[in-house]
Amino acid sequence: METREQMNIVIVGHVDHGKSTVIGRLLADTDSLPEGKLESVKEYCTKNSRPFEYAFLLDALKDEQAQGITIDTARCFFKTRKRDYIIIDAPGHIEFLKNMVTGASRAEAALLVIDAKEGIKENSKRHGHIVSMLGIRQVVVLVNKMDLVDFDRDVFNSITAEFTEFINKVNIKPVNFIPISAFNGDNIASKSPNTDWYDGPTVLSQLDGFVNKKENQELPLRMPAQDIYKFTEEGDDRRIVAGTILSGTVRAGDEVVFLPSQKRSVIKSIEGFNIKPRDAAYADQAIGVTLNTQIYIKPGELMVKANEKLPEVSSRFRVNIFWVGKAPLIKNKTYKLKIGTLRIAVKLVEILSIIDAAELNIDTFKDQVERHDVAECILETTKPIAFDPISEIELTGRFVIVDNYEISGGGIILEGVSDSDNTL
Ligand code: GDP
Repeated sequence: METREQMNIVIVGHVDHGKSTVIGRLLADTDSLPEGKLESVKEYCTKNSRPFEYAFLLDALKDEQAQGITIDTARCFFKTRKRDYIIIDAPGHIEFLKNMVTGASRAEAALLVIDAKEGIKENSKRHGHIVSMLGIRQVVVLVNKMDLVDFDRDVFNSITAEFTEFINKVNIKPVNFIPISAFNGDNIASKSPNTDWYDGPTVLSQLDGFVNKKENQELPLRMPAQDIYKFTEEGDDRRIVAGTILSGTVRAGDEVVFLPSQKRSVIKSIEGFNIKPRDAAYADQAIGVTLNTQIYIKPGELMVKANEKLPEVSSRFRVNIFWVGKAPLIKNKTYKLKIGTLRIAVKLVEILSIIDAAELNIDTFKDQVERHDVAECILETTKPIAFDPISEIELTGRFVIVDNYEISGGGIILEGVSDSDNTL
């Protein structure tokens, strides 16, 4: 059976600017609704003398899903010819932020909805900020309810200009601004005759144009060394490096580098269940490798291929953290960082900004990170570690922080920073 490509997208925007209507339209215009659903909700509205709302349609779908086994009210599914989409709503929820920041779920793109008539609200900016903190780089701004402003090009242009100025400050570059009327379907699935001045894509063609993440197997090799076993072969001391491949592929003959020690060797054989010594091994497989030369490496090092893109090695990095610890995360205290199979002492060096997940307030002046805060900050480990920025390879760009034997925070690494980038 052919497996279809899947992409997660998140939708954000001030309440009443039209998120549910955009979602409802996307579902309706891609024929992703159960048969007769739209009609029955419309009929129900007529009977009860209420105007039809796409939000009712979504509520009806959610009720139905709630009777099934999985209840996940914040997700809707739709498909285009190109791929399947999961659209994630409710970014203000703690669970959502937690999942996104800890990497439990990832979105490749974001839709940000702004009401053309009401204009940009404080929440539109907050949501822009959150999208940027989550490291989502493909963002499209939907200027909705264009019907209420007579599809006026000047209104669209002034919102575009004002919002562009704001988001340039928070480091996101929207791919596009699209003038839409979600309620009437303008520029959702097909070009609207009401916006002949607009020559960009529709929402659906924009979504299909977004780049999806690569499959783990297509990425460079990353295998954290879990254990090193010694054995004797023909009188020689030999070692097996055991671990689980997070991404990429490895086969006998590959030249590998262990980081951060920089030690190199060549794979002699691959051992494991159902693997013949000369076979290749892939992402998700637990294996052991033997090497052509005798090198001393430690558990916690990252095995990568010499001829592929190397991870970063640094002791300082810019991260986003979701903090769940009972005690706040503070500067100058030693915590334990777990990344891959490595455990290492870490300190909080600098807080760049904090979002209080419950209230969505943004604070740049707090000097500690409290429970349920999402913080962008700089961490420093006692020795350099190997990692990938989350935008490159997810599995080696995530970490957890342990305080007092309890997992107290999780996060993603945005980039390594050198000491000189960040004079304190
Ligand atoms: P949400 O809170 O962001 O999910 O907003 P909704 O999707 O529930 O929309 C809020 C209100 O705006 C509802 O009454 C919608 O019918 C209305 N609305 C949404 N999109 C449009 C649109 O394109 N044009 C007009 N005129 N009304 C719209």
